[in-house]
Amino acid sequence: MAALRVTVWNEGQHEKTNLTVQKVYPDGMHTVIANALREQGLEVRTATLDDTEHGLTQEVLDATDVLTWWGHMAHDKVSDAVVERVYQRVLNGMGLVVLHSGHFSKIFKKLMGTSCDLKWREANERERIWVVEPGHPIVQGLGDHFDIPHEEMYGEHFDIPAPDTLVFVSWFQGGEVFRSGACYHRGRGKVFYFRPGHETYPTYYQKEVQLVIGNGVRWAAPSGLAELSYGHRPNPLEPIT
Ligand code: ZN
Repeated sequence: MAALRVTVWNEGQHEKTNLTVQKVYPDGMHTVIANALREQGLEVRTATLDDTEHGLTQEVLDATDVLTWWGHMAHDKVSDAVVERVYQRVLNGMGLVVLHSGHFSKIFKKLMGTSCDLKWREANERERIWVVEPGHPIVQGLGDHFDIPHEEMYGEHFDIPAPDTLVFVSWFQGGEVFRSGACYHRGRGKVFYFRPGHETYPTYYQKEVQLVIGNGVRWAAPSGLAELSYGHRPNPLEPIT
């Protein structure tokens, strides 16, 4: 079987403007995520906001089985034309893995249809991620929970539609909880939201996090179902008696 073709998209702005983030991700967080996925046998390219058409031309998207998305400070700089292009590709079967602050991206909000708002705090606290769907392919290789030593807190209520499958729930040292791994189907496509990954912490170097992103990519891979058609059907498939 041919390797899944993954495009790792990163806004890539914090890395250019913030020294702390540069120290954690000198080559950009997309490079760390892409290398982790390559180690898992996936065929990976990267794209960033500053690339022409954000690196997401129709040609690139047509050659992408699963797109991963990290954005934060420049959601509004992503062109509506590119968002619409990604949206149509998801409905036509491309998988989408939305990471961390991508919860406020145009593409995630469009796919969810809700505000996607949440509570947050930056206090270097511990996050404990619990598996709540033990038979799900996204949890393959994990124990029943894992910890991230330092993360930003995201807390409920998270204004998303009820997930088709909730895979992870996070607990934070400060007391909040959060639905941190949520699966959706949209058209022929699949969407996985995964919470961790604040830019000032080395979260994307952590093995469990890399494993979950890889599992999420494999889960979100296109089903292979041929194109759907809709509309008037004047001729029944068999005689109606
Ligand atoms: Zn953050």
